[in-house]
Amino acid sequence: MEMAERSYEKFFRQHRLPHMWCPGCGNGIAMKAIVMAIEKHPELTADNTVIVSGIGCSSRASGYMDFDTLHTAHGRALPFATGIKMARPDLHVIVITGDGDCTAIGGNHFIHSCRRNIDLTAILFNNSIYGMTGGQTSPMTPMGKKATTTPYGSVARPLDPSALAKAAGATYVARSTAYHVHHLAKMIEQGLNNKGFSFIEAIVQCPTAYGRKNKMGTPADMLAWMRDNAVMKEAWDKLPEEKKQGEKFPIGVFLDSRYVDYATAYNDVIRAAGGEVK
Ligand code: SF4
Repeated sequence: MEMAERSYEKFFRQHRLPHMWCPGCGNGIAMKAIVMAIEKHPELTADNTVIVSGIGCSSRASGYMDFDTLHTAHGRALPFATGIKMARPDLHVIVITGDGDCTAIGGNHFIHSCRRNIDLTAILFNNSIYGMTGGQTSPMTPMGKKATTTPYGSVARPLDPSALAKAAGATYVARSTAYHVHHLAKMIEQGLNNKGFSFIEAIVQCPTAYGRKNKMGTPADMLAWMRDNAVMKEAWDKLPEEKKQGEKFPIGVFLDSRYVDYATAYNDVIRAAGGEVK
């Protein structure tokens, strides 16, 4: 066990630790799942991999990871990552974002990154709330759940970012949770192998803002909630509609398709126009 833990140390900036996340926060689990996936990939190294994040608790992850990293502006991680990929298509670019960052202020960038099928792997840490700024409702706060801005419970339907990614043109879409850490790492690993826009939604617990407001118990209780409510997609697809109600949700691969990625198509245009692709 000790040896296995040590093998991940090289991926982190030890001098930046300990991290700023609250005790029991799921962000660290999702961050570790990312490095587990990176380690399994035959080509990704600290020198050819860039980690880009936006703003929020989840986006602090880039500061702890020992790669070339950018901690950018709120909602703008995907545009920064797109610029890097277009300038240096040889680099592997991973985006870490949160539910507010990706689908509220960054929602338009998200849709168009999917549409372009730009070769990025985006991992959304979904904690169902704005944790860093005090617990306001996010686009993914479930109906009836409390936040500082919805003290009687949210009345808006939550956004399903995986369904949105699929509809907007992403070529790999998957979901997992902080409880299913090895499954989550596998979903990310498969996303890294896709040449195109890969989107992985990682459901993570926020015990401080979301958990307290909604009386979800300890961080371990929140992980147990994920264990009890997540259903593998293969089993989910066989469930009758009445069993899909309530808090149950599917995890697994929702889409794994092939389509030319944006940088490849763009370089083909440059060549057709007589230009030279570096
Ligand atoms: Fe994690 Fe929530 Fe604390 Fe942010 S506020 S670090 S998401 S537990």
